[in-house]
Amino acid sequence: MKMNHYYADLEESYLFSTIAKKVEDYQTGHPDSKIIRMGIGDVTLPLPEVVVSAFQAAVLEQGTKAGFHGYGPEQGYAFLREAVRNYYMSYGVELEMEDIFISDGAKSDVGNILDLFDRDNQVLIPDPVYPVYRDTNLMAGREIVYLDANMENGFLPLPDRRQRADLIYLCSPNNPTGAVYNRAQLQDWVDYAREQEAVILFDAAYEAFVSDPALPRSIYEIEGARECAVEFCSLSKTAGFTGTRCGYTVVPHELNRGGFSLRKLWLRRQTTKFNGVSYPVQKAAAAVFSLEGLAACRAHIDVYRKNAGTIVETLNNLGIWHVGGVNSPYIWMKCPRGMDSWAFFDDLLERANVVGTPGAGFGKNGEGFFRLTAFNTNANTEEAMQRLWEIYA
Ligand code: PLP
Repeated sequence: MKMNHYYADLEESYLFSTIAKKVEDYQTGHPDSKIIRMGIGDVTLPLPEVVVSAFQAAVLEQGTKAGFHGYGPEQGYAFLREAVRNYYMSYGVELEMEDIFISDGAKSDVGNILDLFDRDNQVLIPDPVYPVYRDTNLMAGREIVYLDANMENGFLPLPDRRQRADLIYLCSPNNPTGAVYNRAQLQDWVDYAREQEAVILFDAAYEAFVSDPALPRSIYEIEGARECAVEFCSLSKTAGFTGTRCGYTVVPHELNRGGFSLRKLWLRRQTTKFNGVSYPVQKAAAAVFSLEGLAACRAHIDVYRKNAGTIVETLNNLGIWHVGGVNSPYIWMKCPRGMDSWAFFDDLLERANVVGTPGAGFGKNGEGFFRLTAFNTNANTEEAMQRLWEIYA
């Protein structure tokens, strides 16, 4: 038996298990401490009521002879793809219905898209990074060139024209840094990808947090992107679907490489290995894009946005360097007093009873940095920042 030996190249991910263990140990030793968690990348607010009603109605339909739905259309129900298309249209991006593929979330599609590409491709991945991009490529045995994201480039690396590329991962607004590319920067990436005949894999999971109309929410707002980019999006952070599971991937019909239409290949891949998202979940997802649904989601995002604002204000007052938090739920800060990521983690836990995520867990350039998230209540976030102020001012 020969196994996929590339799995041996993966580093064990100890990040979140180490955090959980440290927090548990601290809480056991200090049972009266009120620990505030600002490290989690999961939403904290429930599904909006309008979404739950649609979800419930669809479940009940499934129990009736007239309303029962078996296997659904391959790319997702037309009612949901049309809702997604109209959502894109609301900020000026026109897509064909057949460009849109409904999925169970961005993570699986980001990983599965690699089925379309030969192992022998040059892949560029930013560092620090959402670990899925790196690990899915390592699993396939692909060598990776890392793009340095650092304070000098505001954690937004730009193309180096001496570097050859076939696959380019971009995530904006970024996890873990919260940094957001502007139009000119994304245009540079699109131009470079076209020069290289490369494909950009654009992760827009946090697009709903972009409030500045000057900033792009989709790569397709950039000229030429349809010929070189696949976009992954998710309802996880937009609408609280982390536990409900629904997302969408856009593969424009204009995107061709090596004599293949990527849209055709992705359809072939999905129809072979994926049987779609359940009817009730797609009904719930469609409710997100109704006027009432969008308003409810915006209200939830405003709660997180307020938290991000509280964190940014505190860091500004403390004079601590940071990015993100303005059009993103993530704030990426330099650890104070020259501490490394884990030293700051321990210090923050022990002295402020606040938990965050050490930047070193996201790549070598994350060392010395720290990620805070806006996914908490307004009251907890304010209390956490008050504690931070008292300790580091
Ligand atoms: N992409 C990024 C950048 C993320 O941070 C996450 C989740 O944290 C995902 C994708 C996964 O999204 P989903 O829940 O749709 O699988």
